[in-house]
Amino acid sequence: MSAHFTDDFKTAPFWWERTPRPDPKPAHEKLPQRADVVIVGSGYTGLHAAVQTAPRRSTVVLDAEDAGWGCSTRNGGQVSTSLKPSFAALSGRFGARAAMEILQEGNRALEWVGAFTAENNIDCDFRRCGRFFGAHSRGAFSKLQKRIDAIPRELGADAYTLTRGEQRAEIASDFYHGGAVWPKHASLDPARYHRGLLDCARKNGAQVFSHCAATGVARAAGGRGFEIQTARGVVQAADLVIATSGYTGAPLPPSPALKWMRRRIIPVASYIIATEELPAETAAQLFPGARVVTDSRRLVVYYRLCPRRRRVLFGGRVSAGGAGLREAALRLRRQMLRIFPQLAGARISHSWMGLVGYTFDELPHLGAHDGVHYAMGYCGSGISLASYCGMKTGLRVLGDARGETALARPPFQARMYYRRRPWFLPPAVLYYRWRDEMEVRRG
Ligand SMILES: Cc1cc2nc3c(=O)[nH]c(=O)nc-3n(C[C@H](O)[C@H](O)[C@H](O)COP(=O)(O)OP(=O)(O)OC[C@H]3O[C@@H](n4cnc5c(N)ncnc54)[C@H](O)[C@@H]3O)c2cc1C
Repeated sequence: MSAHFTDDFKTAPFWWERTPRPDPKPAHEKLPQRADVVIVGSGYTGLHAAVQTAPRRSTVVLDAEDAGWGCSTRNGGQVSTSLKPSFAALSGRFGARAAMEILQEGNRALEWVGAFTAENNIDCDFRRCGRFFGAHSRGAFSKLQKRIDAIPRELGADAYTLTRGEQRAEIASDFYHGGAVWPKHASLDPARYHRGLLDCARKNGAQVFSHCAATGVARAAGGRGFEIQTARGVVQAADLVIATSGYTGAPLPPSPALKWMRRRIIPVASYIIATEELPAETAAQLFPGARVVTDSRRLVVYYRLCPRRRRVLFGGRVSAGGAGLREAALRLRRQMLRIFPQLAGARISHSWMGLVGYTFDELPHLGAHDGVHYAMGYCGSGISLASYCGMKTGLRVLGDARGETALARPPFQARMYYRRRPWFLPPAVLYYRWRDEMEVRRG
């Protein structure tokens, strides 16, 4: 075992220590033959849809693994307004008014998650800590400045930049060429949040079946509704929701609607490590602003202290998916030490990864195709968006006008060159890594 790993090093999410995986519904519990709504995927999207539908229509949620096994219990716990494209980019595509409406949904998503956790007493360390966004080069800093200057006042971002000389108020590092603070962004413990949400969905009447992959989807006889084949038999549903995001490719039920979705979702691997517990003072000194952090590189890194503020959790896209968890941990450690050389002696206690659902236009998408509802593609920022889009999807299934959202309007794009496997990811990761590195070296 390398000296860089603790003796009890684990290849599982750090979050699962405090929130062990939920008990599966006992294998003898029978899947109902019929439900009004079947939802495939039990992460934030699927469960938030279920929270809406279950009080009014019988709802079954299926997951191929245990509940929340996907990104929703593995992520970095950084909660933001989440939409990647800038106001200028969205205005260029859709016009200023539509751009504003889309970005306002990002704001609402962030507000709504805070309100949802408070109203439902979900004890998940939700904290309005704000985010520091580091610029990896001088060019990146001037782009950041322009982007912030162009944010319309009505969006109320309250973001501001800090020069390289000022950034030590936020982070004990000189790696960046300045950065920006988004004071409204937040942090939480993602697995605790998921557990609270799971309880909420069950209380509302949803039946959640884990280790129950949907293996086939067909139109029911007569063309109304669907027949979903699963590992535990067939369930018929009037409405079907696909909430599988970055895992849409894996055990894909053969159906034209789902093939359509798979051509539009790119599974991108994201990796995280946790350090062993650090002395309280050392940990606090690294993040004097007590915020979460990301940066401007194409292969973004994201990091923070854990809720007890004793460990650093450091994540990034250090491989297209082929790296083992030890190898990925060592690559992340090298990145971490470039920012915080002070952590040279800190050993790694956990290393894990998950598949983020990416889209070609970097926007999330929700809607219905061939009568099948879907919400997916949060491009690595899905805590607020998956929750919000799941909730909206639940309302849409009910035919409730409150399900209307500007996020449902942009077309969900495919590309000719992408049908089954994202063959372009390994060369793209190499190319982006090279460009990032050149820019970091040039300064
Ligand atoms: C390492 C990592 C770090 C991240 N960090 C952040 C962060 O800091 N902030 C942020 O906002 N977002 C972050 N994200 C993204 C965020 O976690 C996701 O966008 C969000 O959790 C997506 O939720 P979801 O419910 O749509 O999908 P998921 O939580 O991925 O759930 C999909 C589920 O579908 C199930 N499934 C797939 N196929 C089938 C089938 N055929 N039958 C039954 N079930 C099936 C899977 O088992 C899985 O449990 C991160 C993601 C990763 C991987």
